[in-house]
Parts: sequence; C-alpha cells; structure tokens
Amino acid sequence: MVAAVPGEIDRARLRALLERERAKYVSDHPRSRELFERATATLLGGVPMSFMGMLTGAFPLYFEGAMGNRVTDVDGHTYIDFCLGDTGAMTGHSPVPVLEAVQERLQTKGGITTMLPTEDATYVGAELQRRFGLPYWQFALTATDANRWVLRMCRMAQKRPRVLVFSECYHGTVDETIVIVGPDGRPMAKPGNVGPQVDPTQTTRVVEFNDTEALAAALRTRDVACVLMEPWMTNIGIVPPQPGFLEAVRVLCDETGTLLINDETHTFSAGLGGCTRAYGLRPDVVTIGKAIAGGVPMGAYGVTEELAARILGDPDADLVDQGGVGGTLAGNAMASAAARATLEHVLTDEAFAHMIGLGTAYTEGVQSVLDEYAVPWVIVQLGARAEYRFCPRVPRTGYQSRAAHDGEIEELMHLYTLNRGLFITPFHNMALMCPATSRADVDRHTEVFRGAVRELLA
Ligand code: PMP
Repeated sequence: MVAAVPGEIDRARLRALLERERAKYVSDHPRSRELFERATATLLGGVPMSFMGMLTGAFPLYFEGAMGNRVTDVDGHTYIDFCLGDTGAMTGHSPVPVLEAVQERLQTKGGITTMLPTEDATYVGAELQRRFGLPYWQFALTATDANRWVLRMCRMAQKRPRVLVFSECYHGTVDETIVIVGPDGRPMAKPGNVGPQVDPTQTTRVVEFNDTEALAAALRTRDVACVLMEPWMTNIGIVPPQPGFLEAVRVLCDETGTLLINDETHTFSAGLGGCTRAYGLRPDVVTIGKAIAGGVPMGAYGVTEELAARILGDPDADLVDQGGVGGTLAGNAMASAAARATLEHVLTDEAFAHMIGLGTAYTEGVQSVLDEYAVPWVIVQLGARAEYRFCPRVPRTGYQSRAAHDGEIEELMHLYTLNRGLFITPFHNMALMCPATSRADVDRHTEVFRGAVRELLA
C-alpha cells in the first residue's frame, strides 16, 4: 500500500521504527556499551574526541580493526565502510603501500620526526604540483592547520585584514570561518561557536554560496585578503556550484585583487587533483588534508609562483619561529613517507576511475529506490562521494541545505543501515567510495536503503 501523499513521512511510524532500531543497536553491541561506560570515568564526555559521542546509537561503536573498506567492531560485527573516517581513509583502511612505506621509515630506516626534511617530501611536492597545478607546497599536520596558516599568509601578502567565506562552510576549527549569514542577512557567529577568540564578524565577510551579486558587493570593499572556499560545499550536505559560479568567483577575485583559496580536503573525491583539476580552476592557493597520507595526519598547501615570492620576500614575516605559522611535527618523515605512498600507489588515476564509477552506481541505486517509491528526496554525486538529502531539489545555498536537515529521518537512516552492516558518514548522509569498495558493496547499500524506504514510506 502506498502512503496517501507519495513521499509524505508518517512521524508516528518513523518514531516507532526509530525505537526498534535504537533497541537493536543496544542489544547488538554489549561490549561497545561496556567499553563506553568504562571510558566515562577517564575521558571527557566518555570519548577521546567529542564528535565520537555524537555518532549513531546510544553509545559509540568501538572498533577492533579496519582493513580496506571493512570495519569490525568489538562485538564481532563487520561493516561495509562508506564513512571512511569522513575522508581520512578515502584510501581504504591501512592500505598496503602506506603500511610498507611507514614500516620502512619507522623500522628499517628509523625516525618519525626529526626537524629534518626527507626525500619523500620532495616527491610529494612534485606530485601535488602535477595534480593541482600550483608550483610550491608546504606541509601541515591537518587541513585545519593548512587553512589557518594560509589565511595568515594571504592577509600578510595582501595587507588586507579580512577573509571571506560562504555561509555554512566548514574548513576545520579555524576561528575566522565559524560564521554564517544570520536570519536578518547580516553576518553572525555560527550558533554554538565555542568561545570565539575574536568575534568572527570582525574578521570575516560571509555570503551565501552561488550568490554572485553578494560576493561582488562584499569584495568591492577591497578589504578582503582572500576567499576561502570548497569548490562544492560538502559540510552542510553537498551544495554544487551553479554553472558559471566558480568562473565568476575567479573573475571577481581578479577584479578586486583578492586571493582565492580552494580547500580540496573533501572535494579531492572529484579526482586526481580534486575540483581544481577536474574543472581547470585557477586558485592562488590549494589546501588539503585528511586522505593525502592514507590516514596518517597530514595537511598541505600549495601556492602560486607570485604568492610564494611575496610570502618569502616579506622581511617582516617570521615564517620560521613564533610568527604564527608552523608546527613542530609538520612535514615529519613518517607523514611524508605515507603521503608519497598514497599518491604514488593508492589514490592513482585508475583508483579514482574505479571509485567514481562506484559513486555513480551508488547514486543510481539510491535514485532507483527514490523513483520506485516516489520519494521527494534528492541525491547528489561529487566523484567518489554521494549524498542523499531530504528535500526534492538540490540545495543552492548553505541556508537551503541546512533547511533540508531532518534529524529524525537522518538518525533512522544511520541506525537502519548500521544495524544491517553499513556505515555511512555521521552528521549527514554522505557515502564515500575507496579503492577497496566493490560493486557488490554498493548493491548491498541499495538493497538496505530500499528496505529502509519501504518500511518508512510504503
Ligand atoms: N576542510 C574541509 C573542507 C573539511 O571538511 C574539514 C573537516 N571536515 C577540514 C578542512 C578540517 O580537517 P581536519 O579536522 O582534519 O583538520
């Protein structure tokens, strides 16, 4: 029997399903529960990192091991992993070339961190140069670090105080970026912004993604050093650029003497050199992190010839000691070895072709279920990544995308899939393919997704 209005959610049915799935999660994971209860005595909020306390289920799933695209929990269940550490494991877990390179570095040669460069770093620089088209690279510990440091460098180079971001963006815990367009159209700190150092409305201009006019007006003030953006927004659900938007951003930056930073940390899923390469974009800076060292912590940023000359040529800038850019462990030998192995052997052209093909198969699978049950949801694909949303049309702005959020349906989809052996990215409904993902894994997702939709809507 089909619901009276196709696609309309019966909240009572939804809540009953949620109760059932919550109870199943609890009864299936006694060991995870026990470990969590123990951890509450020693860890803040019972977890090593606060977001782990927010994952699906009444308590976090403790994992025992992870290989390729499989994660095994401490209760003995194995999951097909479409979360992949929210991109940190886009290589798959523990990829053999990375293991071998790290082992060679740590055991055979020795030395995790020494303050000295290794040859691997030069290889990584050359490969990032080839992929993203920017000549000079430097390394950080995380994507957050890379973003923080390049904001400083851009301000210094441009002698302008502000930065510009798009509303509902996420670029890591970077003070200047935790800002949105408020309900009255004026900038405001993102609700929940934890003890901001400085009110971000003082440091940052913020406009909606795809709003070329607002961007033009904001940059016209000529006090903005740089625009920091993801070419496709991925952290408020996926928001693609409208045709011509990315080109307009470049033109407006050129017209106003503003630098353009592409944060490719997630959009790396678009291919070998992220969206920058896929669309022939011409940013002044690219930042990246998460997957580039196969899950070993590492971030990186690349700059143009001109910007490099300005950064290195500023006699007032302390780039090497306590001037505000840098980290002791950045560029360490272990991370450099892992990044080299990742770029040379794991996230290759062939791997991306496979992953993007599966991204398409995943999208088509979900779409076929949406069509079958006339569900007014939409799925968006960005290369190896795809995400379904609880709204009929692809959002064009961060605001629209946030409005499509439905916590109850989201929790149900996460629990329903997890309870049937599938792990999708927490917080929204994103799935990512890695080299180890197979067509059978994608088909299994389609089957489980169909089951959830049938129970919820049919
Ligand atoms: N940039 C983007 C686009 C991200 O999605 C994230 C994390 N989700 C970051 C930067 C920060 O990465 P990290 O937390 O590893 O520093």
